[in-house]
Amino acid sequence: MIGVFGGTFDPIHYGHLRAALEVQEQLNLTEVRLIPSATPPHRHQPFADAIMRQQMVTLAIQNQSGFICDSRELNRLGKSYMVDTLASLRQDFPTHPLLLFIGTDAFNHLTSWYQWQRLFDFAHVVVMTRPSFNQQKLEDFFTVRHTENKTELTTTLAGKLYFQAITQLDISATAIRKLIAQHHSPKYLLPDTVIDYIIQHTLYQQETHAH
Ligand code: ATP
Repeated sequence: MIGVFGGTFDPIHYGHLRAALEVQEQLNLTEVRLIPSATPPHRHQPFADAIMRQQMVTLAIQNQSGFICDSRELNRLGKSYMVDTLASLRQDFPTHPLLLFIGTDAFNHLTSWYQWQRLFDFAHVVVMTRPSFNQQKLEDFFTVRHTENKTELTTTLAGKLYFQAITQLDISATAIRKLIAQHHSPKYLLPDTVIDYIIQHTLYQQETHAH
């Protein structure tokens, strides 16, 4: 089974990394592919360019076996839609279950994603929740796909919805960029190798870049 974790990663931090590791271990995934987005359709444009965000991901995961930085969105022109990314992964891995990781906030507006129903044609969706999380009533589309049985994720290639509780680290890239712009230390919120890279490339120095 292959985990798929997309994000802006502007920069990558321990919130992302810890979440990826916990889902990998809980669901026994052979690999987790972290996929930096080129042109995120749903939000403001990133501050660090795509190559730099990719390099920071590579630095952050260099000692973690099973974690891979997947640059397919950076190599594609135009907007990067998750459904296209999953279609491309499905071509590369025709016989592996794919598991798309998303945060609870993202799940709450999943129905605004481009061709969101088709995500389930290519992958299972794993929503990373806080441990006390209580799911409100799901829409029918989700209810029929929802499973609490992990083994169902291994026996089919795609189409299920699964909630995985993970430790919540209240870290955001926005807060990190803000700290750096205000000349405070972001240490212990993200790997030292990434901090060194940020310093070396003088990223996120301006307050106007923090939001
Ligand atoms: P920004 O603050 O710039 O919006 P971010 O820190 O939220 O960035 P993204 O790159 O937008 O990071 O996030 C990619 C994915 O990682 C999303 O699915 C998001 O829900 C998840 N994520 C972000 N921060 C955390 C965290 N602290 N713990 C678990 N998951 C997280």
